Amino acid sequence: MEGVNTINSKAVGGLNESLIVNTIRRRGPISRVDIAKLTGLTAPTVTNISGKLIEHGLIHEYMVGEYSGGRRPVLLKVNSEIANMIIVDIRSKEMIGYLINGGLEIKEQTCYDIQHLKEEKILSLLENTIEQCYSSENGKLALAIGIIVRGPVMSREGLSLFSPSAGWRNVPLKYLVEKQFQLPVFVENDMRAMALGAYHYGPYRDIKNAVFLGVGGGIGSGIILNGELYRGLGDSAGEIGHTVVDVDGPLCSCGNYGCLEAMASESALVNITVKSINDGESSLVSEMVKGDMDAIRPKHIYAAAEEGDLLAIKMLQHVAKYIGMGAANIINIFNPQLVLIGGGIVKGRVFMEETMMQVIKERALASCYSLARIEFSSEGRQDALKGIVDVVMEGIFLR
Ligand SMILES: [Zn+2]
Repeated sequence: MEGVNTINSKAVGGLNESLIVNTIRRRGPISRVDIAKLTGLTAPTVTNISGKLIEHGLIHEYMVGEYSGGRRPVLLKVNSEIANMIIVDIRSKEMIGYLINGGLEIKEQTCYDIQHLKEEKILSLLENTIEQCYSSENGKLALAIGIIVRGPVMSREGLSLFSPSAGWRNVPLKYLVEKQFQLPVFVENDMRAMALGAYHYGPYRDIKNAVFLGVGGGIGSGIILNGELYRGLGDSAGEIGHTVVDVDGPLCSCGNYGCLEAMASESALVNITVKSINDGESSLVSEMVKGDMDAIRPKHIYAAAEEGDLLAIKMLQHVAKYIGMGAANIINIFNPQLVLIGGGIVKGRVFMEETMMQVIKERALASCYSLARIEFSSEGRQDALKGIVDVVMEGIFLR
């Protein structure tokens, strides 16, 4: 067996080889017959290549599958030790570093608070986080680095165009980190990573067309068309948060006015709540922060709504109306099988869902809407982690 932490280029050198490895790691444990069905390759090709992959230690025969007539199939699974990698998730408030393997087993985890930090400090913490994972016992075996960042990203170049939380513009993350660590680096934005994770590893993988709408401090989306993430010509597709839903609306983080993000993100939720309280409306939220309006966070609004606070509920329903409009726009443009709504806003789901669904029903064309499923996910961060591991693994196997 080859060393399990090196990817043998002869074993996964061809397109069919990487197609089979990727199918096994996303769908495994899986039989050779099912691999052939999913990939369109012939049974002898699958048998031949999977034999080679077993020999090189990339996959193994895991167990005997369910009886469905004829011989019980042997199921194949990827060797979880196949690739150690370092992942850094740069979120709005914290930076989390993981040493994780291709089987999604986390071996090390670190976390830094990055609230109120500026570009330079965040980049130096990024370096520290990678260094910390890299210097651990298994870290030396890392084959690649994956970075999740908020805001628009040009993934091929690894360029973070704009980060709403860090406040930076055009930071060449891939270039900077590759230069420092001499490992291949893959960069993806949180929404697209979330879409990839939910799609490839969740219950939705048999759906071919889906849009994952993430509503947190910002709003973004990941678009799956014909089973593939749609990135767009300039690698910038999915910026639904910056489509205008109110021409006279408030200033958005992108510099435009009245974007969906400025009307319906968790930041917008906080802004309208603060404004209403300042205008004289009473609310539990105000008591929770002892009158300090700067201390209001989305969690206070969800908690107040749970207590029956009328203002908090009204604010959530206001935001729900705009998220419904955003979802209706998505449905009219893509006619998807699924719109999956994720992100922090899902905490307010019980107060928002009815309004959202009502608006979607009113605003989306019946022909586009009738077959669409609208669902909610509270697994966003886990999905994003799975998604970036997928991006790294695919990148490694195609190299
Ligand atoms: Zn905008």
